[in-house]
Amino acid sequence: MIITVDNLIKTYAGRVPTPALRGVSFDVAAGEFVAVMGRSGSGKSTLLHQLGLLDQPTSGKIYIDGADVLALAETDKAGFRLRSLGYVFQEYALITELTALENVWLPARALGAGRAGRDRAAELLDLVGLKGRHGHYPRELSGGEQQRVAVARALINRPKIVFADEPTANLDSASARVVLDLFRGLNRDLGQTIVMVTHEPDDRQYVSRVVWLRDGLIDRIESV
Ligand code: ADP
Repeated sequence: MIITVDNLIKTYAGRVPTPALRGVSFDVAAGEFVAVMGRSGSGKSTLLHQLGLLDQPTSGKIYIDGADVLALAETDKAGFRLRSLGYVFQEYALITELTALENVWLPARALGAGRAGRDRAAELLDLVGLKGRHGHYPRELSGGEQQRVAVARALINRPKIVFADEPTANLDSASARVVLDLFRGLNRDLGQTIVMVTHEPDDRQYVSRVVWLRDGLIDRIESV
């Protein structure tokens, strides 16, 4: 198992504490493409943020590739995120002042990869279908192209897992299909493990399992 989640609880603090995850347990095998689905407010994004080590759950355990990742100190967690996890967000989250190539290269540079990182960034941009767009700035790219840059960036450090939070929510249906086909190809051809939050029922056709959430609990796990 590449991910094991054990009795994960997340309650947002505040004047009225909000229970967002109320005891979630499941596993993801290496090489799976899993969707997290459920109604708005069911806890999908919260779950992805905990799994991606972008937030600290109230209690419970998360093991990634056998490591008790919640026990890591903050600096080690940051290193683990950079080395082992990739992220694709709904809003692309590209740096506007950097070209497509520089955006993809950036996480590799953070690990000290110079020329080799740049070459890999170029290869990845070609892989996601952006040959000839390497020097474009985000504003010079369509939404679908920007999201493909974000996918390439997520892959640059060869992550164990790619986390995607509603990656097609801002895209037209044709661009959404391109991005989902890309994920499916990465999963099938390269064995990339992907965990994706989506509210699009049609996206089920791209994945092998769906974790359905309801009110902060797993409603059911569906094999597709
Ligand atoms: P989903 O992604 O399925 O729409 P979320 O994980 O965003 O659901 O939210 C789950 C619950 O937690 C909701 O009731 C939401 O209002 C609440 N919630 C989400 N983020 C926060 C936050 N930062 N502070 C307080 N409550 C939050």
